[in-house]
Amino acid sequence: MKDLLSCTKSELEEYLKELGEPRFRAGQVFSWLHNKEVRTFAEMTNLPAALRNRLDAECLPIAPETERMQESAIDGTKKALFRFHDGNLIESVLMRYRFGNSVCVSSQAGCRMGCAFCASTVAGLQRGLTAGEILAQVYAMERTLPEGERVSHVVVMGSGEPMENYDAVIRFFRLLADPDGRNLSLRNMTVSTCGIIPGIRRLAEEGIPVNLAISLHAPNDEIRRKLMPVAKRYPMDELLSACGDYFEATGRRLTWEYALISGINDGDEHARELVRRLAPYRGVVNLIPVNPVTERGLAAPSKDRVQHFLHLLTSGGLEATVRRSLGRDIDGACGQLRSRYINDKT
Ligand code: SAH
Repeated sequence: MKDLLSCTKSELEEYLKELGEPRFRAGQVFSWLHNKEVRTFAEMTNLPAALRNRLDAECLPIAPETERMQESAIDGTKKALFRFHDGNLIESVLMRYRFGNSVCVSSQAGCRMGCAFCASTVAGLQRGLTAGEILAQVYAMERTLPEGERVSHVVVMGSGEPMENYDAVIRFFRLLADPDGRNLSLRNMTVSTCGIIPGIRRLAEEGIPVNLAISLHAPNDEIRRKLMPVAKRYPMDELLSACGDYFEATGRRLTWEYALISGINDGDEHARELVRRLAPYRGVVNLIPVNPVTERGLAAPSKDRVQHFLHLLTSGGLEATVRRSLGRDIDGACGQLRSRYINDKT
C-alpha cells in the first residue's frame, strides 16, 4: 500500500503520473494532505471521484483511529491513544500553553532503549513509525483544537528513540516545514534523544535548525549507566561535546532533561557535579520530578527537594527550570496510557 502522507510533493507527482493524472494533481493532493482538516480521500472534493476511490483502495489510511482521547480537567492537556493500520498503538499529547499549542509525538511504537524510569520501553520495540504516521499525530491533535487555533510547536518526545528512526524523523521535520504543506517553522520543532552521538552529529549536518533536547538524567556516567543502558555505549563527556558542536553548527538552543528521582540523582553533590559538567555549554536544564511508573517503583523527590536542587543549579550559574507537570490526571508520562490500556485488555 502506498504511504501518501510520507511523500514529498515530487514523490506524489511521480505516483500520480503513474496513475495517469495531470501534473497539477500532486499540488491538490499535497495541499489536502497537509493543509486541510480531512481524514479520508473521500473528503478531497476537488479530485475526480474515480481517483478518490483509487487512492482509497491503493493507499494507507491518512489518519489513525483514535482509540482513546483523554482531556485533563486541570489544564486541558489532551492525551490520545492512536491505532495505526497494522494495529500498533502509540500515544500523543497536546499541551496548551500561553505561547501556543504544543504537540508531543511518538517516533516509534515501543522502544528498545531500556531506560529504567520509562514506561514506553517495558515491552520493547514494535517498530519505527513512518514520517506520515508521525505527521498524522500532529494533524489529528490539531483537529481537536477549537476553531481558528493551530499547533505552534512540535516536540518529538513521545515514545521511541528518534535517532533510531532517523530517516523518518528527518523526513517528518521537512514535510511539516514544507511551505506548500503545513509550513511550521523548524525553529518550533524539537527532537529529544537519550544520547545517541552519531545521530546528533548527523543531525548537525542536516541543515535543519531544530532544537535539541538531551535526556541526561544524571551528573555522571556511573549513575547514568544505572538508569540508561545507552550510557554504556556513549560516555557523557563525548555526549556533551557532541551537543556543544550541535549548538555551534546550528545556533539552536540545547535542553538538558533531568528527571529527578529520589535517592538516586537528587543529592546536593549531584547538583554540584551537574553545574561543573554543564558550565561550558549553552543550554537550559529542565528538571522533571519523575513521573512514578507503577512497573518500576521509582519515586519523585519532595517539592522542597526539587526547589532546593533547582536553587543549587541556578546559583551555580546554570539556566534551569522545573517542568510544569501537565496532565497528571491522565497518565501524562511516556507510555503510561498505552501500557495501562494494554494491561487492561489482557
Ligand atoms: N527517546 C527520547 C525521546 C522520548 S522520552 C529521549 O530519551 O529523549 C521523552 C522524555 O521523557 C525523556 O527525557 C525521558 O527521559 C522522559 N521520561 C520518560 N519516562 C519518564 C518518567 N517516568 N518521568 C519523567 N520523565 C520521563
